[in-house]
Amino acid sequence: MSDKETAQASNFIRDIIDADLAAGKHGGRVATRFPPEPNGYLHIGHAKSICLNFGIANDYGGTCNLRFDDTNPHKENLEFVEAIQRDVRWLGYDWGDRLFYASDYFEQLYEFAVQLIEKGKAYVCDLSAEDIRAYRGTLKEPGRDSPYRNRPVAENLDLFARMRAGEFEDGSRILRAKIDMASPNMNMRDPTIYRIRHGVIHHQTGEAWCIYPMYDFTHCLSDSVEGITHSLCTLEFEDHRALYDWFLDTLQVPCHPQQIEFSRLELQYTVTSKRKLTQLVDEGYVEDWDDPRMPTIAGMRRRGYTPAAIRDFCSRVGVTKSVNNIEMGVLEDCVREDLNRHAPRRMAVLHPLKVVITNFPEGVTEELQAANHPQDESLGTRGVPFTREIYIDQEDFREQAPNKFKRLVSGAEVRLRNAYVIRCDEVIKDNNGAVIELHCSYDPDTLVNNPEGRKVRGVIHWVSARLGIQAEVRLYDRLFTHPSPDKGEEGAEYTAYINPESLRTLTHCYLEASLAEAQPGQQFQFEREGYFCVDPDHSHARPIFNRTVTLRDTWAKLEMQKD
Ligand code: ATP
Ligand code: MG
Repeated sequence: MSDKETAQASNFIRDIIDADLAAGKHGGRVATRFPPEPNGYLHIGHAKSICLNFGIANDYGGTCNLRFDDTNPHKENLEFVEAIQRDVRWLGYDWGDRLFYASDYFEQLYEFAVQLIEKGKAYVCDLSAEDIRAYRGTLKEPGRDSPYRNRPVAENLDLFARMRAGEFEDGSRILRAKIDMASPNMNMRDPTIYRIRHGVIHHQTGEAWCIYPMYDFTHCLSDSVEGITHSLCTLEFEDHRALYDWFLDTLQVPCHPQQIEFSRLELQYTVTSKRKLTQLVDEGYVEDWDDPRMPTIAGMRRRGYTPAAIRDFCSRVGVTKSVNNIEMGVLEDCVREDLNRHAPRRMAVLHPLKVVITNFPEGVTEELQAANHPQDESLGTRGVPFTREIYIDQEDFREQAPNKFKRLVSGAEVRLRNAYVIRCDEVIKDNNGAVIELHCSYDPDTLVNNPEGRKVRGVIHWVSARLGIQAEVRLYDRLFTHPSPDKGEEGAEYTAYINPESLRTLTHCYLEASLAEAQPGQQFQFEREGYFCVDPDHSHARPIFNRTVTLRDTWAKLEMQKD
């Protein structure tokens, strides 16, 4: 990570930490954690939370734990546990030896629950789920006490031990906190602490447990056990803070971390709910979690987004409590900026049109040199073979065109990038009148110099037909056509806004010869086309390149036309 990046912009959370440090709170320590539930892959919203938590730890000389919040075993698995670690590491963050699982604390959590019962602050409740809901009341009406609320401590201890021992069926009993059924905060109306779940094999604890603690109980206690000082979470947990504090105040705990909420990142033209991302994968709208159209970290990696670009994006969107709905163009600009600096330039023809250079000898190869980067000489040069037959892009030729068409026109000249000026002498067509080949002549004096006394329209890219590599190129675009797919027309499912052109696969592209050595993950700018990266499925025998991002924001242009 560069020095420039480490001095991150200030935000209200950093202000709180500064004040805490000045007041000597938490013994001058700063300890954060990133607590994903391993029930899916991480997405761009998680990236914001990762950058925030690890960024604060890095800047304050503190620590950041990676903790799996794994209390819901039937939706979690090891694939997700591994993917999350891979993605956090790839983003550039290191948790050292501070990898934890909430399930590491199951025994301790059980003891805390017993402590609550002993204090008369928790009870075993036999109401059915339906009754619990009915007793809970509404926002306008207070709830009613459960008939089991005043069970004696000894009976609660006995029943809770038997819940653990597996004597009771799923749903027949729960352990609840005894707080206040009339509280205006619904979370305080005797919330569930433990429920019974038989027959699930937990990815960490196997079949050791048939009771599982609830999130609110687990989270604050895990934070406390780990000595977290600032527990940062998204705004939907604001109403849970009272409960977070209640557990920590009621129980004898190592320390009392401060929960601070910030707003969730929402990115336009995509969705960031794990439930919806799971649905996109399960129902085949995308190939998998790492489909380059997915807003997952794995998808963005496969698409060719860089860790530096994603970190830059997270720093640009900032951390506040107000709505954080960001245009996709902001993320794409971060990607363009980073790739513009680092991606070597290459030539690739996506829609090939054959050009025969009639005054260039057959069988001869002239090795021309091309700079890998227009501004950064340290990236060096490469050889580009020039031959009698080349490909140019169909878009770069018109039989007739106005002067503002700065490409090849019948009877006129154009410069081939890194090579010569050619003139189009003859247009060959098939029986239907479609252009299938051009016959051109080149001016051998124009490799470095412009022709004297003539003005050449423009510069186009090209690839040697004999020495170019045939490749598959996947053109990715936004996955949705609506900026807020889940807030479309009334009654419309977000899946109704899937962009049918989010993937176009071109199978007959030609790439310049030097790309034969490209390795999966490498990134290039295909001049005049965009940024591309080598797909993990790429091989020498079957080259595959993904378009990461276009050179300019074509969506912004479309939006402007609409107005
Ligand atoms: P979902 O609601 O989609 O299931 P989640 O919040 O339950 O997501 P977790 O795995 O629990 O997913 O999230 C881990 C951490 O990442 C939490 O601290 C959560 O607040 C944070 N986080 C999740 N989504 C976002 C987001 N869109 N913006 C910022 N932080 C997020
Ligand atoms: Mg969550």
